[in-house]
Amino acid sequence: MTAEPPSHTALVRRARRIDRELALLYPDAHTELNFATPLELLVATILSAQTTDKRVNMVTPILFSRYPTAADYAAADRDELEKIIQSTGFYHAKTNSLIGLGGALCERFGGEVPPRLRDLVTLPGVGRKTANVVLGNAFGIPGITVDTHFGRLARRFGWTTSDDPEKVEADVATLIPRRDWTALSHRVIWHGRRVCHARRPACGACGLARLCPSYGEGPTDPVVAAKLVKPGPFS
Ligand code: SF4
Repeated sequence: MTAEPPSHTALVRRARRIDRELALLYPDAHTELNFATPLELLVATILSAQTTDKRVNMVTPILFSRYPTAADYAAADRDELEKIIQSTGFYHAKTNSLIGLGGALCERFGGEVPPRLRDLVTLPGVGRKTANVVLGNAFGIPGITVDTHFGRLARRFGWTTSDDPEKVEADVATLIPRRDWTALSHRVIWHGRRVCHARRPACGACGLARLCPSYGEGPTDPVVAAKLVKPGPFS
């Protein structure tokens, strides 16, 4: 006989308990990218694709002082911009995105970053993940950021069975109150970076062990697991 899948009510209850526990574990969880304005966060998030926040934070001080406005990106000298962001990887594509982004912001949004998902996703280099990061962290509009960590942990928590970030976002939105989406995203990503790794999650050292349906996916021996924990910071 196979066990009945948990009811939606049971899933909601467990998801909220996991989020409360994450809030205790990471009361200070926040984006690890440095920024002061919506434009800076948008640019930093575009640069963060396929690299670490730490690497991005190393190039953004000079980048932000050289290109303070959308018009500056639109008019950027390609070679100079590529040189500044080279160490973040994929710099040809990222340079195209930043120059295109500056142009699109100037042409369609008066040089300002628009505070709406449906506008943000029309910008070069901006998908739903980047848009939700900017909405949640620069504008205070709740957003669920499904990056590689969030997707993996949502599946391990039983919040979704999907690999499609948009479906993951929609599934989690039915479990967690809207006002908590941005903070939840930070907590889950922090836990993914520090404890619940893609390979060998540190189950035996995990504060969610008694709540997580995937407990045992990694080593449960506390001494072995403790060695797998990466304390951070990652910025
Ligand atoms: S118990 Fe294991 S699988 Fe579950 S969240 Fe913790 S580290 Fe990840």
